[in-house]
Amino acid sequence: MFPLENCEDIEHAKIDLHMHSTYSDGVKTPEELIKMRAEQGIEVAAVTDHDGTDGVPEALAAGEKYGVRVLTGIELGTLLEKKYELHILGYCFDTQNAVLKGEIDKIREYRDGRNRRLLRVFQDKGIPITWEDLMQHPNQEYIGKPNFALAFERMGYVKSVQEAFDSPEFLACPESIALKKMAVDSLEGVSWITGAGGYAVWAHPMELKSPLDKKSPEYRAIIEGIAKTLKQSGLAGIECWHPSADREDSLWLEGLARELGLFRTKGTDYHGLR
Ligand SMILES: [Zn+2]
Ligand SMILES: [Zn+2]
Repeated sequence: MFPLENCEDIEHAKIDLHMHSTYSDGVKTPEELIKMRAEQGIEVAAVTDHDGTDGVPEALAAGEKYGVRVLTGIELGTLLEKKYELHILGYCFDTQNAVLKGEIDKIREYRDGRNRRLLRVFQDKGIPITWEDLMQHPNQEYIGKPNFALAFERMGYVKSVQEAFDSPEFLACPESIALKKMAVDSLEGVSWITGAGGYAVWAHPMELKSPLDKKSPEYRAIIEGIAKTLKQSGLAGIECWHPSADREDSLWLEGLARELGLFRTKGTDYHGLR
Protein backbone atom coordinates (compact mmCIF):
# COMPACT_ATOMS: atom_id res chain seq x y z
CA MET A 1 0.00 0.00 0.00
CA PHE A 2 1.22 3.49 -0.80
CA PRO A 3 2.27 5.11 2.51
CA LEU A 4 0.14 8.22 2.00
CA GLU A 5 -3.02 6.42 1.01
CA ASN A 6 -4.78 7.27 4.26
CA CYS A 7 -3.09 10.60 4.90
CA GLU A 8 -5.76 13.29 5.08
CA ASP A 9 -3.69 16.45 5.60
CA ILE A 10 -1.02 16.36 2.92
CA GLU A 11 -0.33 20.09 3.28
CA HIS A 12 1.03 19.62 6.79
CA ALA A 13 2.27 16.03 6.51
CA LYS A 14 5.97 15.56 7.33
CA ILE A 15 6.89 14.26 3.89
CA ASP A 16 9.13 15.21 0.99
CA LEU A 17 8.72 12.86 -1.95
CA HIS A 18 10.72 14.86 -4.49
CA MET A 19 14.44 15.58 -4.15
CA HIS A 20 17.42 15.48 -6.51
CA SER A 21 20.87 14.27 -5.52
CA THR A 22 24.36 14.34 -6.99
CA TYR A 23 23.31 11.28 -9.02
CA SER A 24 21.44 13.74 -11.25
CA ASP A 25 21.53 17.52 -10.98
CA GLY A 26 21.33 18.13 -7.24
CA VAL A 27 24.28 19.27 -5.15
CA LYS A 28 23.83 17.00 -2.10
CA THR A 29 24.42 13.25 -1.94
CA PRO A 30 21.40 11.04 -1.17
CA GLU A 31 22.72 10.56 2.37
CA GLU A 32 23.08 14.32 2.90
CA LEU A 33 19.52 14.86 1.66
CA ILE A 34 18.01 12.24 3.97
CA LYS A 35 20.07 13.43 6.96
CA MET A 36 18.92 17.02 6.34
CA ARG A 37 15.27 15.98 6.11
CA ALA A 38 15.57 13.78 9.22
CA GLU A 39 16.87 16.81 11.15
CA GLN A 40 13.85 18.77 9.92
CA GLY A 41 11.46 16.12 11.23
CA ILE A 42 10.49 14.62 7.88
CA GLU A 43 9.09 11.11 8.30
CA VAL A 44 8.66 9.89 4.70
CA ALA A 45 11.06 10.88 1.92
CA ALA A 46 12.22 9.92 -1.56
CA VAL A 47 15.22 10.82 -3.68
CA THR A 48 13.83 11.09 -7.21
CA ASP A 49 16.73 11.58 -9.57
CA HIS A 50 16.12 12.22 -13.26
CA ASP A 51 15.89 9.06 -15.38
CA GLY A 52 18.02 6.94 -13.03
CA THR A 53 18.01 5.02 -9.77
CA ASP A 54 21.70 4.70 -8.91
CA GLY A 55 21.30 6.93 -5.84
CA VAL A 56 18.45 4.84 -4.41
CA PRO A 57 20.52 2.29 -2.40
CA GLU A 58 22.37 5.14 -0.65
CA ALA A 59 19.07 6.89 0.10
CA LEU A 60 17.53 3.69 1.51
CA ALA A 61 20.58 3.05 3.72
CA ALA A 62 20.45 6.66 4.96
CA GLY A 63 16.77 6.17 5.80
CA GLU A 64 17.69 3.24 8.07
CA LYS A 65 20.48 5.26 9.65
CA TYR A 66 18.51 8.42 10.34
CA GLY A 67 15.08 6.91 11.01
CA VAL A 68 13.26 8.19 7.92
CA ARG A 69 10.95 5.99 5.85
CA VAL A 70 12.59 6.26 2.42
CA LEU A 71 10.77 5.10 -0.71
CA THR A 72 12.54 4.10 -3.92
CA GLY A 73 12.13 6.98 -6.34
CA ILE A 74 12.73 8.26 -9.86
CA GLU A 75 11.57 11.18 -12.04
CA LEU A 76 11.11 10.39 -15.73
CA GLY A 77 11.11 13.14 -18.34
CA THR A 78 8.29 12.29 -20.78
CA LEU A 79 6.16 13.69 -23.59
CA LEU A 80 2.39 13.22 -23.90
CA GLU A 81 0.75 13.20 -27.34
CA LYS A 82 4.02 14.60 -28.71
CA LYS A 83 3.21 18.02 -27.23
CA TYR A 84 3.01 18.12 -23.44
CA GLU A 85 6.28 17.78 -21.51
CA LEU A 86 5.36 15.87 -18.37
CA HIS A 87 7.51 14.62 -15.53
CA ILE A 88 6.41 11.32 -14.05
CA LEU A 89 7.55 10.37 -10.56
CA GLY A 90 7.81 6.71 -9.62
CA TYR A 91 7.75 5.26 -6.10
CA CYS A 92 8.04 1.90 -4.36
CA PHE A 93 9.02 0.04 -7.55
CA ASP A 94 11.55 -2.75 -8.01
CA THR A 95 14.77 -1.04 -9.14
CA GLN A 96 15.93 -4.37 -10.62
CA ASN A 97 12.93 -4.72 -12.93
CA ALA A 98 14.34 -5.70 -16.34
CA VAL A 99 12.01 -3.56 -18.48
CA LEU A 100 12.53 -0.41 -16.40
CA LYS A 101 16.29 -0.95 -16.24
CA GLY A 102 16.46 -1.56 -20.01
CA GLU A 103 14.50 1.60 -20.77
CA ILE A 104 16.66 3.68 -18.40
CA ASP A 105 19.74 2.31 -20.22
CA LYS A 106 18.29 3.36 -23.58
CA ILE A 107 17.56 6.87 -22.28
CA ARG A 108 21.11 7.09 -20.93
CA GLU A 109 22.70 6.00 -24.22
CA TYR A 110 20.69 8.54 -26.16
CA ARG A 111 21.55 11.26 -23.66
CA ASP A 112 25.27 10.43 -23.81
CA GLY A 113 25.30 10.98 -27.58
CA ARG A 114 23.31 14.19 -27.21
CA ASN A 115 25.67 15.46 -24.48
CA ARG A 116 28.75 14.77 -26.61
CA ARG A 117 27.23 16.78 -29.47
CA LEU A 118 26.32 19.57 -27.03
CA LEU A 119 29.87 19.64 -25.64
CA ARG A 120 31.16 20.10 -29.18
CA VAL A 121 28.75 23.02 -29.73
CA PHE A 122 30.32 24.91 -26.81
CA GLN A 123 33.88 23.82 -27.56
CA ASP A 124 33.41 25.17 -31.10
CA LYS A 125 32.44 28.49 -29.51
CA GLY A 126 35.82 28.47 -27.75
CA ILE A 127 34.61 27.44 -24.29
CA PRO A 128 37.04 24.86 -22.82
CA ILE A 129 34.36 22.64 -21.28
CA THR A 130 35.03 18.91 -21.02
CA TRP A 131 33.09 15.79 -20.04
CA GLU A 132 34.72 15.91 -16.58
CA ASP A 133 33.26 19.38 -15.98
CA LEU A 134 29.77 17.87 -16.25
CA MET A 135 30.32 15.28 -13.54
CA GLN A 136 29.38 16.03 -9.96
CA HIS A 137 29.92 12.53 -8.68
CA PRO A 138 32.37 9.80 -9.78
CA ASN A 139 29.61 7.34 -10.76
CA GLN A 140 27.10 9.86 -11.96
CA GLU A 141 24.41 8.18 -14.01
CA TYR A 142 22.59 11.24 -15.27
CA ILE A 143 24.10 14.12 -17.17
CA GLY A 144 21.70 16.64 -18.65
CA LYS A 145 21.54 20.29 -19.60
CA PRO A 146 21.38 21.29 -15.89
CA ASN A 147 24.89 19.84 -15.52
CA PHE A 148 26.10 22.06 -18.35
CA ALA A 149 24.52 25.01 -16.53
CA LEU A 150 26.22 24.04 -13.25
CA ALA A 151 29.55 23.73 -15.07
CA PHE A 152 29.21 27.17 -16.69
CA GLU A 153 28.44 28.61 -13.27
CA ARG A 154 31.44 26.88 -11.63
CA MET A 155 33.69 28.02 -14.50
CA GLY A 156 32.57 31.60 -13.90
CA TYR A 157 30.87 32.16 -17.28
CA VAL A 158 27.48 32.84 -15.68
CA LYS A 159 26.33 33.88 -12.23
CA SER A 160 23.57 31.31 -11.93
CA VAL A 161 22.15 28.15 -13.44
CA GLN A 162 19.13 30.15 -14.61
CA GLU A 163 21.37 32.60 -16.45
CA ALA A 164 23.04 29.68 -18.26
CA PHE A 165 19.61 28.45 -19.38
CA ASP A 166 18.43 31.92 -20.46
CA SER A 167 21.57 33.15 -22.18
CA PRO A 168 21.74 32.97 -26.00
CA GLU A 169 25.50 32.42 -25.55
CA PHE A 170 24.90 29.25 -23.57
CA LEU A 171 21.93 26.86 -23.32
CA ALA A 172 19.51 29.19 -25.11
CA CYS A 173 21.63 29.19 -28.29
CA PRO A 174 19.86 27.67 -31.32
CA GLU A 175 22.29 24.71 -31.57
CA SER A 176 21.59 23.82 -27.93
CA ILE A 177 17.83 24.20 -28.25
CA ALA A 178 17.90 21.88 -31.29
CA LEU A 179 19.58 19.10 -29.27
CA LYS A 180 16.62 17.66 -27.43
CA LYS A 181 16.39 14.76 -25.04
CA MET A 182 14.84 11.45 -26.03
CA ALA A 183 11.07 11.71 -26.28
CA VAL A 184 9.76 9.04 -23.93
CA ASP A 185 6.00 8.68 -24.24
CA SER A 186 4.27 9.60 -20.96
CA LEU A 187 1.93 6.61 -21.03
CA GLU A 188 4.88 4.27 -21.55
CA GLY A 189 6.73 5.93 -18.66
CA VAL A 190 3.72 5.30 -16.41
CA SER A 191 3.57 1.68 -17.56
CA TRP A 192 7.28 1.05 -16.83
CA ILE A 193 6.77 2.16 -13.24
CA THR A 194 3.53 0.26 -12.67
CA GLY A 195 5.06 -2.76 -14.46
CA ALA A 196 7.89 -2.67 -11.91
CA GLY A 197 5.31 -2.84 -9.11
CA GLY A 198 5.40 0.86 -8.31
CA TYR A 199 3.18 3.92 -8.18
CA ALA A 200 3.37 6.57 -10.89
CA VAL A 201 2.66 10.17 -9.89
CA TRP A 202 2.33 13.19 -12.16
CA ALA A 203 4.95 15.70 -10.96
CA HIS A 204 4.25 19.42 -10.68
CA PRO A 205 1.23 19.76 -13.03
CA MET A 206 1.37 23.57 -12.67
CA GLU A 207 4.68 23.56 -14.55
CA LEU A 208 2.83 22.57 -17.71
CA LYS A 209 3.94 25.02 -20.37
CA SER A 210 1.13 27.01 -21.93
CA PRO A 211 0.46 30.56 -23.07
CA LEU A 212 -2.76 30.41 -21.03
CA ASP A 213 -3.12 32.10 -17.66
CA LYS A 214 -2.50 29.44 -15.03
CA LYS A 215 -5.59 30.51 -13.10
CA SER A 216 -7.86 30.30 -16.14
CA PRO A 217 -10.53 27.61 -16.51
CA GLU A 218 -8.98 26.73 -19.90
CA TYR A 219 -5.59 25.96 -18.34
CA ARG A 220 -7.20 23.92 -15.60
CA ALA A 221 -9.24 22.02 -18.17
CA ILE A 222 -6.00 20.97 -19.91
CA ILE A 223 -4.55 19.76 -16.59
CA GLU A 224 -7.74 17.85 -15.88
CA GLY A 225 -7.73 16.22 -19.33
CA ILE A 226 -4.10 15.15 -18.96
CA ALA A 227 -4.75 13.71 -15.48
CA LYS A 228 -7.65 11.66 -16.85
CA THR A 229 -5.56 10.35 -19.75
CA LEU A 230 -2.72 9.37 -17.42
CA LYS A 231 -5.13 7.77 -14.98
CA GLN A 232 -6.46 5.50 -17.73
CA SER A 233 -2.91 4.25 -18.20
CA GLY A 234 -2.37 3.51 -14.53
CA LEU A 235 -1.39 6.80 -12.92
CA ALA A 236 -1.68 6.47 -9.13
CA GLY A 237 -1.28 10.02 -7.90
CA ILE A 238 -0.78 13.75 -8.44
CA GLU A 239 1.94 15.87 -6.82
CA CYS A 240 -0.45 18.50 -5.47
CA TRP A 241 2.05 20.37 -3.28
CA HIS A 242 5.15 21.64 -5.10
CA PRO A 243 6.83 25.06 -5.25
CA SER A 244 5.26 25.68 -8.69
CA ALA A 245 1.76 25.60 -7.19
CA ASP A 246 0.49 28.24 -4.79
CA ARG A 247 -1.89 27.19 -2.00
CA GLU A 248 -4.96 27.78 -4.13
CA ASP A 249 -3.54 25.70 -6.98
CA SER A 250 -2.56 22.96 -4.54
CA LEU A 251 -6.02 22.76 -3.02
CA TRP A 252 -7.53 22.69 -6.51
CA LEU A 253 -5.17 19.85 -7.50
CA GLU A 254 -6.16 18.00 -4.32
CA GLY A 255 -9.81 18.29 -5.35
CA LEU A 256 -8.99 16.97 -8.81
CA ALA A 257 -7.03 14.04 -7.37
CA ARG A 258 -9.88 13.12 -5.03
CA GLU A 259 -12.38 13.35 -7.87
CA LEU A 260 -10.31 10.98 -10.01
CA GLY A 261 -9.50 8.62 -7.15
CA LEU A 262 -5.77 9.44 -7.21
CA PHE A 263 -3.32 9.82 -4.31
CA ARG A 264 -2.15 13.29 -3.38
CA THR A 265 1.57 13.82 -2.75
CA LYS A 266 3.94 16.61 -1.77
CA GLY A 267 7.53 17.33 -2.75
CA THR A 268 9.98 20.21 -2.66
CA ASP A 269 11.91 19.31 -5.86
CA TYR A 270 14.98 20.25 -3.83
CA HIS A 271 18.17 20.54 -5.90
CA GLY A 272 20.25 22.31 -3.28
CA LEU A 273 20.68 25.30 -5.55
CA ARG A 274 20.09 28.81 -4.41
ZN1 LIG B 1 10.38 17.77 -12.75
ZN1 LIG C 1 12.34 17.17 -10.00
